[in-house]
Amino acid sequence: MAKEYDLVVLGGGTGGYVAAIRASQLGMQVAVVEKGELGGTCLHRGCIPSKALLRSAEVYSQTLHAEEFGVETSNTSLNFTKVQDRKQAIVNTLHQGVQGLMKKGNIDVFKGFGRILGPSIFSPMPGTISIEYENGDENTMIVPKNVLIATGSRPKSLPGLDFDGSLVMSSDDALQMDRLPESIVIVGGGVIGIEWASMLADFGVKVTVLEYLNQILPTEDEAIAKEAERLLKRKGIQFVKGAKVLADSLSKDTGVTIEADINGKKETFQADRMLVSVGREANTGNIGLENTEIDFHNGYIQTNDFFQTKESHIYAIGDVIGGMQLAHVASHEGITAVEHMAEQNPLPINYRNIPSCVYSNPEIASIGYTEREAIDGGFEVETGKFPFKAIGKALVYGESDGFVKIISDKNTNDILGIHMIGPHVTDMISEAALAKVLDATPWEIAQTIHPHPTLSEIMGEAAMAVENKQIHG
Ligand code: NAD
Repeated sequence: MAKEYDLVVLGGGTGGYVAAIRASQLGMQVAVVEKGELGGTCLHRGCIPSKALLRSAEVYSQTLHAEEFGVETSNTSLNFTKVQDRKQAIVNTLHQGVQGLMKKGNIDVFKGFGRILGPSIFSPMPGTISIEYENGDENTMIVPKNVLIATGSRPKSLPGLDFDGSLVMSSDDALQMDRLPESIVIVGGGVIGIEWASMLADFGVKVTVLEYLNQILPTEDEAIAKEAERLLKRKGIQFVKGAKVLADSLSKDTGVTIEADINGKKETFQADRMLVSVGREANTGNIGLENTEIDFHNGYIQTNDFFQTKESHIYAIGDVIGGMQLAHVASHEGITAVEHMAEQNPLPINYRNIPSCVYSNPEIASIGYTEREAIDGGFEVETGKFPFKAIGKALVYGESDGFVKIISDKNTNDILGIHMIGPHVTDMISEAALAKVLDATPWEIAQTIHPHPTLSEIMGEAAMAVENKQIHG
């Protein structure tokens, strides 16, 4: 007889496993079906391993410049095998942690490929899950009351630039490199492209970024993207914007050569390797969606505000529904979906209140509207901008590039957006997120006493700058 569950989660990534934990807290009998490893993209092929490599790159680059701090070093060298080992050790530790959490929540984990079946002998509704195993063991059937699809996404390639794992790499491939190339061409100057460009440049690799649009990091505020480009150029990164990559021209031997059309002029780029980072596509293939009434748009599953698909007992969250493809978004969507199943009346997610971060060196973080979006949205805006070079702690750190910019509504004083570039801003953006959730105004941020000397003082100064009342600038 097929085992019954209150909830079966397809995909044990950050969205899926967090949802499973919340469901177990709410008293549900839960199973997670995962074909790979618990923790998914974020833990094994994304956030965690890439940030571990970025941290090694930062330490290496800081050590090379240690003399500025009066620390004299000699013969600084990089052992990339140890860099990779450290990364893997961090991933392994966190992976064990997630496995422990599943046990603690009494959550059954099936290591296999889950497919949604149509109405069957087990259930008159679509949703019975058939689990297939790589080793050919007989399929397991499980019957859920609710299903949560959290199957995530994978790197998208460009026609003609198929990933081969070594010369033309996805970000998954790049994480597995056993040695650093001398040079790399990165196609796509979005979040992944810029994090890799920054990391590899800090490791001493010659980096060229080919970006299709006329702005790198196109979703960031224009002032932030400009500053990022200026600061990253100082590391020696070459940015080519408005670059239409001509995939037909790709040739591979010991390295790669590719042409791009830049404003009507052809240019040739040569490097040891190529990374293609032009977005991600949803993992919706083969999971049995054809056995359901679930709607799609541009390859993404459509849901309502509580993540119910057209089949009201089948929910979907995370990268598979598109939107902001971020781990913290997926996990909050997962919690909301599960609380909705359990009739807990969760609040719908306000996507304007979600912080996003780029872990380049310097870091970038933002929340809410960019200035352009706010103006296009019909707001009359006021802005306050304050530089890190006037913040004592930033000078102490030796990292005084960048600024914080606050955009507010001139008529209501509401904060519309906060944008940061500089040291540790991916941690500092949480104050901005709290301010947004509490509907604070710049005045309230300015009233919040920031300890001295800290980097966080920049928030108070930028808030005061909205009314031109900043103290140190
Ligand atoms: P992205 O959408 O952030 O950026 C893709 C970039 O490629 C864009 O700048 C786009 O203009 C450019 N592009 C598209 N087609 C091109 C072409 N033919 N030639 C040159 N450039 C082209 O996608 P990504 O960087 O691949 O990241 C994928 C997803 O993963 C994003 O949603 C991102 O937010 C998420 N992610 C987040 C983090 C983080 O939070 N720090 C880190 C990595 C990835």
